[in-house]
Amino acid sequence: MHLLIPAAGSGSRMKAGKNKLLLKLNGESLIYWTVKSVFLSKHISWVGIIGQSIDKDEIMNSIKEFSNRVNWIQGGDSRQESVRNGLFSLPKNAYKVLIHDGARCLIKPDLIDKCSMGLDENNAIILAVKVTDTIKIANDNKMIENSPDRNYLWAAQTPQGFLVTKLKEAHQKALNEGWSVTDDASLFERLNWPVKIIEGNVTNIKITNPMDLKIASFFLGVS
Ligand code: C5P
Repeated sequence: MHLLIPAAGSGSRMKAGKNKLLLKLNGESLIYWTVKSVFLSKHISWVGIIGQSIDKDEIMNSIKEFSNRVNWIQGGDSRQESVRNGLFSLPKNAYKVLIHDGARCLIKPDLIDKCSMGLDENNAIILAVKVTDTIKIANDNKMIENSPDRNYLWAAQTPQGFLVTKLKEAHQKALNEGWSVTDDASLFERLNWPVKIIEGNVTNIKITNPMDLKIASFFLGVS
């Protein structure tokens, strides 16, 4: 199985002044923990890291023990553009691909395997967890409009996996139509193509704010 790691963000919400994936978590960079889990997965045979040129040396240095096994791909201005670059840099024999955000550094190798197996039976899968909060839809004035039935709500995570030809087609369509999305499954949804949910784990958080680093440090320590 091929796996792409989008890692080309600027980390503006983290306010670290650099790519948050280079921040230290329990002595190693965030991206190190992500890449380590990926290589502990039994199903992954090819890994591409999608990053900005300015971060290349530091990222490669921080994942030294794996650096000769990863392929470097130039990132774009948005996550969507980064993933598109990744897709068009896959080897010709790539049939299905998993995409896993570098910022989800607590992913467990067995969940990557679970996604890979789910992708054997489906053309598109995502890892997600059931929402436990009651979610409100509100207007611009913060006045609530409604509360969707929680039984049908899932919080999307990564890995997300797809048939390569279909995901390329979806990204091309998005480019032509000017669609802007925050995950790849959203493109399939717009095209009315089916996507299967694989149940994940709440510890697979995306590091976004400084507080998330503290939570991640705790989870890493107990797992
Ligand atoms: O900003 P956010 O954490 O939502 O980004 C999700 C993932 O997408 C991160 O791993 C980030 O490095 C990546 N990304 C990217 N290219 C961009 C912006 C974000 O690969 N231009």
